[in-house]
Amino acid sequence: MFKKAKRIKNLPPYLFARIDQLKEEAIRKGIDVISLGIGDPDQPTPLPVVEKLCEEALNPENHRYPSYEGLLEYRKAVADWYKYRFNVDLDPKTEVLSLIGSKEGLVHMLWGIIDEGDGVLCPDPGYPVYKIATILSGGIPYQIPLKAENNFLPKWEDLDSKIVKKCKAMFLNYPSNPTGAVIDKKGLEEAVSFAKENDLIIFYDNAYSEITFDGFVAPSILEISGAKEIAVEFGSLSKTFNMTGWRIGYAVGNPYLISILSIIKTNVDSGIFQAIQYAGITALNNLRDHPKESAKIYQKRRDMVLSAFEDLGIPIVPPKGTFYVWVPVPEGFTSNDFAALLLEEVGVLVVPGIGYGEYGEGYIRISTTIKEDRLITALERIKNFLRRDDWKSRRPSLLLK
Ligand SMILES: *Cc1c(COP(=O)(O)O)cnc(C)c1O
Repeated sequence: MFKKAKRIKNLPPYLFARIDQLKEEAIRKGIDVISLGIGDPDQPTPLPVVEKLCEEALNPENHRYPSYEGLLEYRKAVADWYKYRFNVDLDPKTEVLSLIGSKEGLVHMLWGIIDEGDGVLCPDPGYPVYKIATILSGGIPYQIPLKAENNFLPKWEDLDSKIVKKCKAMFLNYPSNPTGAVIDKKGLEEAVSFAKENDLIIFYDNAYSEITFDGFVAPSILEISGAKEIAVEFGSLSKTFNMTGWRIGYAVGNPYLISILSIIKTNVDSGIFQAIQYAGITALNNLRDHPKESAKIYQKRRDMVLSAFEDLGIPIVPPKGTFYVWVPVPEGFTSNDFAALLLEEVGVLVVPGIGYGEYGEGYIRISTTIKEDRLITALERIKNFLRRDDWKSRRPSLLLK
């Protein structure tokens, strides 16, 4: 048999594939599964964006290879959005790059920066792609522990300076997947100072910048003075405009780092279908209030989840961003066992926190990207189950590992 590459062998087991299997098993057993697993907006892409795509798809000029770095018009729309939204000035020619979704950008960025053995600091719990991108590029992921007692924010002084010395870059992600925590400008200033003191590049993932609650407005790291010297921010139309399937995002910030990412991408892909870029321009230029409407929907759903767990005597600090709720697991269960139990006993799929790293143990992640009637049903089922006298003695027969 052919042998797979070491870099593939070194990848952590893909928990989400196992979760999909369990879901299939549960469905086969006749369970009506409600998925609060993956975070993927259930609301449609705004109609004007879809209409623009249709119009541009009919134009043969858009059928040819797009430019590698993205239409200048698209990059200008991103720069204008940054000016409007964050009061950040960007040169669309050198400080903005189009991405086929921000995930590919996060991965390709490291290919251009990381050599064999270089360390990369990754939030734990965090979006699994950071660790995976590090391993695929030959680097070594190190944890930035995010703990409840610190509001899931990094505590820079607690990091081991010997480890920090081995690192070339760090990922940061607020509003945070999976915890829903947010960071303010002061927190970002501390991150930038820490990075500068330790010669670290910051890759800031702002995928959820527009999904915030209770009046909180998420900053861009580029609002921090001097950040552009060391940081690239990744963003996406996926969550902001309900466009996960379209594959359109951007990287903005330090022009040297942007040029490196551009070199990798020029050699790997050939840009975003132009009709999609024109549709993206419509979203960024003409639909700037749309994300606020989406945020209202997610805030209402968040409150439904919080109140269900409040009723169960499990109070949760309301997350100020994202469409996730990070729920502590009742004592006596691992996150894997508790997630498997909920799936098997009540047909509700949630993601065990351990899937986001060692420090995710003790939590499950609930995603609210689901129609409200289904969310209500799922919460009712969880409540009824956790109110049973015997529930703690139940153990799942399905196994998550
Ligand atoms: C969804 C998500 C992304 C965005 O992915 P796209 O590739 O742009 O669809 C990036 N970072 C995090 C943390 C996410 O949850």
